[in-house]
Amino acid sequence: MDFSLSPEEREVRDWVRTFVRKEIMPLEAEVLRRERANQPGLPVDELKALQLKAKDSGFWGVQTPQEYGGMGLSAVMTALLEAELGRSFVPFRFGGAADNILYHANDEQKQRYLLPTISGERKSCFAITEPGAGSDAKAIRTSARQDGADWIINGEKTFITGGHEADFTMVFAVTDKEKGANGGVTCFLVDREAGWKSEPIDTMGQWGPAALVFEDVRVPRENILGEVGRGFELAMQWIGRGRYLLPARALGACERLVGMAIEQANTRVTFGKPIADYQAIQWMIADSAVEIEALRWLVLHAAWLVDSGADSRHAQSVAKLFGGVKANEIVDRVLQIHGGMGYTRELPVERWYRELRLLRIYEGTDEIQRRTIARNLLKGHASVSGTLG
Ligand SMILES: Cc1cc2nc3c(=O)[nH]c(=O)nc-3n(C[C@H](O)[C@H](O)[C@H](O)COP(=O)(O)OP(=O)(O)OC[C@H]3O[C@@H](n4cnc5c(N)ncnc54)[C@H](O)[C@@H]3O)c2cc1C
Repeated sequence: MDFSLSPEEREVRDWVRTFVRKEIMPLEAEVLRRERANQPGLPVDELKALQLKAKDSGFWGVQTPQEYGGMGLSAVMTALLEAELGRSFVPFRFGGAADNILYHANDEQKQRYLLPTISGERKSCFAITEPGAGSDAKAIRTSARQDGADWIINGEKTFITGGHEADFTMVFAVTDKEKGANGGVTCFLVDREAGWKSEPIDTMGQWGPAALVFEDVRVPRENILGEVGRGFELAMQWIGRGRYLLPARALGACERLVGMAIEQANTRVTFGKPIADYQAIQWMIADSAVEIEALRWLVLHAAWLVDSGADSRHAQSVAKLFGGVKANEIVDRVLQIHGGMGYTRELPVERWYRELRLLRIYEGTDEIQRRTIARNLLKGHASVSGTLG
């Protein structure tokens, strides 16, 4: 069993670590200032400029297959990179990526949707959640009915990340009510010009999603992604594309936060001593470090399973659940160690506190992960002995 990084992995990881330290972290004060003035923290032109800078060094399309101009990196490598990016709250991501399900597009759709998304000319959004269907995604009611060679879509989607900025959406609609999620849901690629409307939703974090409204939106049948009735499988594939990446990003945030807590503990003096001398503070730091260590290996183990081609879903749920719960406990402790200053907007701790809260909700809530994990165990699809059996 070898837990070390290969020289190549270390080199790639170190490049990103330096990029984050030199190019991303110096933006933090300005990003905070803008966000607090209700402006985008990292405007699109600045994000693009940073992405191009990274591209100059070959960092483009981290998981995009090489035949599409990407790096085609492994899941383990991607998790390591995501953890490095997570060390800053600046909402940076490498360019050159497209939603995994767009690779199911036919040749003509690839030209119109996949390639422009990879190049950054067009932005997509993934729309399954509805006001009446979140965790229970099978309960969606947005419908599409056939009208000659077209389909007419009606319904409402909510909490759609990037929904207000997207040029097109991958929307999931019921095309056969009888069959529902078992063969009666279809995915449509719908350009904004087709007439759907979006309304931003204000949230406690910075990842402002949007509500989308479809009122008799007409879509030609050429815009069906995959096959009629096979949309629900595509939706599950999108959601399952990399659950390990969410806790990977949180891992980086926790490492940085605990670093801040250690510095604060060593420098803040009360009753004549640094607070680092008090066991109450030491235990918060110790527990956080242990949990970070556990999270690191859960994330990397899940990513390793993805790379091995084995069924990684159980391991990904475990990593996502643990990451969401522990990142929230850790940021809470770090805020506590900072006392009143932790609660202010002078420090970024409260920003992380708000942002990390989302991890327990989207792409499967804690409760849904627990439900999945318990079902897998109860039905014998997974064992408490883990991968080693
Ligand atoms: C910022 C943000 C971005 C998002 N981005 C997208 C996106 O891009 N595209 C998209 O389609 N969706 C997106 N979502 C939606 C997200 O996936 C849902 O919010 C999430 O799945 C939970 O659904 P819900 O909000 O309807 O909660 P509900 O399903 O109503 O759940 C409410 C509560 O009940 C619990 N619960 C539900 N069912 C069970 C059960 N069987 N057992 C135990 N407890 C249960 C839940 O865990 C939760 O605590 C986003 C959400 C947010 C907040």
